[in-house]
Amino acid sequence: MNQELFRKIPKMDVLLELPQAAALEMKYSHNFLKESIQAYLEALRAGIAKGDLTDIPAPKDIMDEVTHKMEKDTEYTLKPVINATGVVLHTNLGRAPLGREITKRLVDVAAGYCNLEYDVEAGKRGSRYVHVEKLLCKLTGAEAALVVNNNASAVFLMLNTLAKGKATAISRGELVEIGGSFRIPEIMGQAGTQLIEIGTTNKTHPSDYVKAIEEQEAEVLLKVHSSNFEITGFSESVEIEELSKIAKAHGAMLLYDLGSAFMVQPELLGLHTGSLVQKAIKDGADVVCFSGDKLLGAAQAGIILGKKEYIERMKKNHLTRMLRVDKLTFSVLEQALIYYRDAHEAIRHIPVLKMLNAKAEELKEQAENLAKQLGEANDSLSIEVIPCKDEPGGGSLPNVYLDGYAVAITKEGMKVEAIEKKLRDHNIPIVARIYKEQLLLSVRTLQEGDEEVLIEAFSQI
Ligand SMILES: *Cc1c(COP(=O)(O)O)cnc(C)c1O
Repeated sequence: MNQELFRKIPKMDVLLELPQAAALEMKYSHNFLKESIQAYLEALRAGIAKGDLTDIPAPKDIMDEVTHKMEKDTEYTLKPVINATGVVLHTNLGRAPLGREITKRLVDVAAGYCNLEYDVEAGKRGSRYVHVEKLLCKLTGAEAALVVNNNASAVFLMLNTLAKGKATAISRGELVEIGGSFRIPEIMGQAGTQLIEIGTTNKTHPSDYVKAIEEQEAEVLLKVHSSNFEITGFSESVEIEELSKIAKAHGAMLLYDLGSAFMVQPELLGLHTGSLVQKAIKDGADVVCFSGDKLLGAAQAGIILGKKEYIERMKKNHLTRMLRVDKLTFSVLEQALIYYRDAHEAIRHIPVLKMLNAKAEELKEQAENLAKQLGEANDSLSIEVIPCKDEPGGGSLPNVYLDGYAVAITKEGMKVEAIEKKLRDHNIPIVARIYKEQLLLSVRTLQEGDEEVLIEAFSQI
């Protein structure tokens, strides 16, 4: 029986003669095609040996499967997806989308050579750090700036350069873990600073900081934005303005990990919460750091701002060489910062700000429009437009929900999970939410051109 099946396996040459093979050879290469057929035939033999197979597919069917496998093997693994979740800074979906305008600059700068480390005027070697430093200082009022790979590395660099070998006081309410096992106590340990926990989880008073300085020889005060959680109710923490007075009076240094911060007033976006970078500087933090791809809405980066003396010391730390950013990051950051020269320009051109700013009425209209087109594309769907709660995401503004609108879809005879899976399997994967047995497409996070893809995908369901 087995021998019979082994004999029925078509020969490589026979398969290579089929018309499908010619097309695959054109598209890929002869060697890749042969390897792929070989791998398929080996899997067949293994299947027969194990007794899993009772028949051999026809040569044409074999080539169909080889075609499918070759397509899979050559697919991009990193690809665009559609975010229909309503979560603006979706950590799993690449955080801040940059939009066509910011990325146009990136393409212009990165496609060829650029003056990353070349002073064009002087005709000699320059520094990569000059490109955004002036802009950052002008926009925020900081004396100096440094950009590194991400905010996690910014925190580490800041502590390692300025607090190593010293005692650093931090409130127990701020000893947080930020996604992906970034834990403040451990980072402090690895950076070489001694952790002095002060206050309690819910309350820390100014006197706790003073005591840490006077009785435990703390030379550095560290404040960390609690990011993805919020202490509510009976709670108290000390703001930067007050901490700055304490630090100055005692000759201590004040460092602030803002995590995710705005460079436009949150009120301009209709929000009543969120840290403002400019305020942290003005209120007297010696050094602040924050992410480039959270509420700022630009590239992944850690932006460090503060007193010139401290930033200069960080630039000389050997770690900076390891944490440095490339021309891709600088070009995106520079373009985004140029928009920040005018808050309204920033809101108009930076997708994250635009999405946070989108008002419920506009979103309702957009959702109704999309619902109508989806209905026209597929009349077997039940479609309605419903209000929903969107989120800033990225651990940036915990407990802030944005009034949004979603297209809610069901289909008789099809489980909502099956619809959701089919959307994820689309050639441009669509990530959507399921809520109360309905599939929700929140329109807030849709980008230009996404709606056409949604319509195409739903016409096939
Ligand atoms: C997000 C965050 C970080 C880490 O920033 P990445 O840019 O993700 O490296 C560090 N500290 C705080 C407070 C954060 O919110």
